[in-house]
Amino acid sequence: MLATNLRKSGRFASPRLVGPAELRPTSLNDLKRYLEKESRTALPVRPLGGASSATDCNRTNAGSILHMTGVDRVIRVDAANFTVTVEAGLQLQTLVETLAEDGLELVGSFDLQGRTVGGAIAAPCFGPCIGSAGSYFSSHVVAMKVITANGKIMNIDASQKNLLAAFRMSFGLLGIIYEVTLRVRPIRTFSASHRRVTVDKFATIVNTLSLSDVGFKFYLMPYRDRVYLDLRRYDADPGNSYATPWKLKDWGESTVLPHVFKSLNRIVPIDSVKYRLIDNISEATQGLVNSRLVQNGTNAMSQSGRRHNGRHTFYSSWCFPAANFSMIALAYKEFCVSMLERSRYRCDLPAVGYRLNRDAGSLLSPSFDETMIALTSASTQSRGWEDFVIDLAEFAEKWGGIPIISQSRALRAAHVIQTYSSRLDIFRRLRRQLDPEDRLLSPFLAQFAQ
Ligand SMILES: Cc1cc2nc3c(=O)[nH]c(=O)nc-3n(C[C@H](O)[C@H](O)[C@H](O)COP(=O)(O)OP(=O)(O)OC[C@H]3O[C@@H](n4cnc5c(N)ncnc54)[C@H](O)[C@@H]3O)c2cc1C
Repeated sequence: MLATNLRKSGRFASPRLVGPAELRPTSLNDLKRYLEKESRTALPVRPLGGASSATDCNRTNAGSILHMTGVDRVIRVDAANFTVTVEAGLQLQTLVETLAEDGLELVGSFDLQGRTVGGAIAAPCFGPCIGSAGSYFSSHVVAMKVITANGKIMNIDASQKNLLAAFRMSFGLLGIIYEVTLRVRPIRTFSASHRRVTVDKFATIVNTLSLSDVGFKFYLMPYRDRVYLDLRRYDADPGNSYATPWKLKDWGESTVLPHVFKSLNRIVPIDSVKYRLIDNISEATQGLVNSRLVQNGTNAMSQSGRRHNGRHTFYSSWCFPAANFSMIALAYKEFCVSMLERSRYRCDLPAVGYRLNRDAGSLLSPSFDETMIALTSASTQSRGWEDFVIDLAEFAEKWGGIPIISQSRALRAAHVIQTYSSRLDIFRRLRRQLDPEDRLLSPFLAQFAQ
């Protein structure tokens, strides 16, 4: 009582709880100013791109958040040498549109256009990848410019192979990426075919698919015992593709379904009725839009998630060895069914999977040693989600899952250290050299990166 009165008197102000400082650079000079040693910037500094990561890798409760989306110029499209140079805050959607004006496209197809070039390099970013090319966005970086933790400029190019490998998927721990040169290519048309199979059938073919050149994405619906396959091959006639079906598909998947499911979760009280409706709508979308409308495409037009900003969807991704995925797909179905029985929680969106080609081009690549399948569980339902992801993490660990530092919810630090092992040791040593005062290190990342 006395304390309350003292505070009211105005003489004893209680400290207000403040969050991190929000810094919004628009130029290289701003970035240097915020990071140089003499600056009064609150530490640690965490760079934030499109904010689409599922873990706290892009956040900090104290210190400063460096919003990179204002550093977003397209510097040069070099159509003769098939490269593009951009600033790191540029959104993927703008990059894709800019390249298309010159008849060029990214080497892979990457969903979720709101993310930034810097975020897609500093964290694993992947999509359906045809052939054996690097599955990650960062696989196609040929040079980058970085501001170190002390505000110094560092240039890295393909001749510094090991350094480039460390900076790909470095989660903003080695420095702030501010300019990037990427390898691109002329727009190429692929055919997209679709199949609907049971999970059992999928288990019998997933190994063959993982070993083949076909680009694939799948939607796994455990409660319907269905897998919808999207298979991509370079066998279509050039130019024989239309953007409208892809736009419809994107609109259905990233806008309509999350909104409708969120509403159904609110207004339909009986779970069995609600989930029947939800699964019917998911299947209808797969059957009608994806299977019938989308036949051919290009990486330039097949990017999805234009309108999606992650606000309506919770997700958690884990990588599993492709060689074992036939067993893991069946186990995942059982896990989901038993979770529903035990906790009454289930994801309302299908789980989505991609193949990640073996890629040792990044020190912290989740598929450094072997081809993996990235499986993303997603839902619009917040109640019960946090418990679900803890069980999912347990399931993933049991089945040899490799955590993605930016996308695996409820990952355990000890498991990250164990799986990335000696590669993480090398990364940590380099981090300590480049940031000896831990100016970029947040508590979340310190668990395994200190
Ligand atoms: C619904 C949903 C679905 C998703 N599906 C997929 C998917 O299918 N495939 C996939 O690969 N990913 C997926 N993601 C994950 C996410 O899009 C990727 O992790 C992406 O790479 C993050 O990009 P961002 O710009 O949003 O970066 P942020 O989330 O903002 O940051 C990611 C990391 O990069 C660091 N960083 C950001 N900018 C810089 C910079 N300029 N310099 C240095 N470090 C930097 C951050 O500190 C952080 O550690 C999904 C996300 C959502 C919300």
